[in-house]
Amino acid sequence: MQVSEIKDLSKLSVHTITTKPWSLNEAVNKFSKKGISGITIWRDALEGMVMHDVQSLLDDNGMSVAALCRGGFFPSVSNTKKIEAIVDNKKAIEEAAQIGAPMVVLVCGAEPGQPLEESRKQIQNGIEALLPFAKELNVKLAIEPLHPMYADNRSAINTLKQANDMCVAIEDPFVGVAVDVYHLWWDDTLQKEIERCGELNRLFAFHICDWKTPTSDLLLDRGLMGEGCIPVKKIRGWVEAAGFTGFNEVEIFSNKYWEMDQDQFLEKIIEAYLNNS
Ligand code: ZN
Repeated sequence: MQVSEIKDLSKLSVHTITTKPWSLNEAVNKFSKKGISGITIWRDALEGMVMHDVQSLLDDNGMSVAALCRGGFFPSVSNTKKIEAIVDNKKAIEEAAQIGAPMVVLVCGAEPGQPLEESRKQIQNGIEALLPFAKELNVKLAIEPLHPMYADNRSAINTLKQANDMCVAIEDPFVGVAVDVYHLWWDDTLQKEIERCGELNRLFAFHICDWKTPTSDLLLDRGLMGEGCIPVKKIRGWVEAAGFTGFNEVEIFSNKYWEMDQDQFLEKIIEAYLNNS
């Protein structure tokens, strides 16, 4: 690797949830001052903001939005809730279009009161119900498989194979996959399924962080790349070999890091990104 490549931040995007204590305004300004041009916006960061102002803020700072996080949560035993989910997802798609986000990332959902296969059926129905609207607004939908520990109530899609299979079943170029190393690193078919995802042309997004040992909280103690046991560089290699050219999105939920000075944390993110991903 050449020295000029080592400092390359052009493929780095930071999720707003990673620096949760910052408002969207602060995050955009701080990221852009550090030479980071990618941002992945969580819907909570948009609360109370006028979408037109968000677009101006992004444009003025030369930021590209990698994605809007997140939609989904389709399955339910209640029909009313399923309909509400579609309404809310349409709102997310609208917001994505307004802020120039090319896709909405889907945490697909699961319903503890019904079998996983039924939840997966409802996820597929939900995505298919949204598709015409998403296409009209030119916003893609990225299925994010979640670690099996979340199969009870957050996602019935827990492997890249299941996500790829759903893409094949839906068969629409607007539906693809977000690969998150935290959720998928343990899977012995990961490399093969990443290749398959690339061949299907459905590899839409790539999320990075690390799995700490011991971890004090399975949701809110994610580590910086290099702090844990995930071979981030290796997986990035597979993703790039599969043809992915998009952002490497740093997505870290961490009570520990949210408590620290966020300027110092951003320095650590950049260092970890350059050295360990
Ligand atoms: Zn993710």
